Amino acid sequence: MVDDRTDDGGTGRFWLYDLRVHTVIGDRIAVCHHVEGDSFQVHGESLVFEEGQSISLYALAALLPLLPAKQRDTEANDWMSTDAEIACPDPHCGARFRIERTAKRWFSHAETTGLPDARSTPYWQKSGAPE
Ligand SMILES: [Zn+2]
Repeated sequence: MVDDRTDDGGTGRFWLYDLRVHTVIGDRIAVCHHVEGDSFQVHGESLVFEEGQSISLYALAALLPLLPAKQRDTEANDWMSTDAEIACPDPHCGARFRIERTAKRWFSHAETTGLPDARSTPYWQKSGAPE
């Protein structure tokens, strides 16, 4: 197995995009309880909701597998780079969920890995940690 953690110049850091996912109602009616404009953010491993914002449990279940891939840099021709709207899993529903990359955030391998020999203090226990 190749250890490519030295590709960062030896800092042990990597970056992930912060994401914002917001509800878009298209030209078809939403049959689930979706509120156009409701949103949440993804910071590292955390889903961050502002007060009063919500998302359907079923829509969230459809979105969750895609969010870690969308957090990472992808090649320009990869559909993960270009396609940003995910449909509600209910085939009768017109709602979509638009995923936007909003910023880049640096993380440390040692602060995020579960490998006991490589682990240091988790990033969320340090000052300035993502909310
Ligand atoms: Zn729906």
